[in-house]
Amino acid sequence: MLAVGAVGAVAACGANPSSPPTALGHGAMAGAASPPPLPAIPAAVPGPSKTISSGPPGGGRIVLTVDDGTCADCVSGYVDFARRTGIHLTFSPNGTYAREWEPHAGDLAPLVAAGQIQIMNHTFSHPKLTTLPDARVREELERNEQWAQKVFGITTRPYYRPPFGVHDARVDGIAASLGWTRSVMWNGSFSDSKTITPDFLMSQARRFLTPGTVMLGHANHPTVLGLFDQIVALVKERNLQPVTLDEMFGTTRTVGAA
Ligand SMILES: [Zn+2]
Repeated sequence: MLAVGAVGAVAACGANPSSPPTALGHGAMAGAASPPPLPAIPAAVPGPSKTISSGPPGGGRIVLTVDDGTCADCVSGYVDFARRTGIHLTFSPNGTYAREWEPHAGDLAPLVAAGQIQIMNHTFSHPKLTTLPDARVREELERNEQWAQKVFGITTRPYYRPPFGVHDARVDGIAASLGWTRSVMWNGSFSDSKTITPDFLMSQARRFLTPGTVMLGHANHPTVLGLFDQIVALVKERNLQPVTLDEMFGTTRTVGAA
């Protein structure tokens, strides 16, 4: 898949050695205690559209986003990774890959309830939205939202990631009118929407995992599965704290928009 993002911009972000050391998780591992109940799903809050491609560099926080889910072992591997380490992740699944995601709904439920895992909208069938008429853009977002609510129990609003990173003012306007007021791009990428070598993936990690990065990854090819420990080691070495979009940008599942 074509990845269109402002990946070059991240080179300007230096490491921040004064960031406080942080752990990957925030306390108890999933399953150790009963999670808080899922919040009621709020009504959509339409508003002006804003495109996000990075977070504030202060504090050493990064957002790891994981798109699609074409590979069952990769989805499973990411879910295991989250359960095992407590790492905070934002998944961007497409409902068209329900067969890959739905077996993990039970394991993900406590992580979602605890705010460790967030779900954003990536459309149901991963089309290039700029080529679709208005009604089809709406349908892609709303169908994926309904699927995400059913499977994960939370809303994806206000965040959506346009497939292939392809969006324009019309598409963003439609999304924002439905409550997806944040179009989420990225400023770092594992470049693993296609098959790559482990060495290349880790070179991307070293290049881009710096404070404030919104990192793009995919649950599509198994290369990443053997690298989770190395990625965690890099995150710790750089005193980075993986957080969800909610945590990075101050939104909540109970309100749906900030
Ligand atoms: Zn995608």
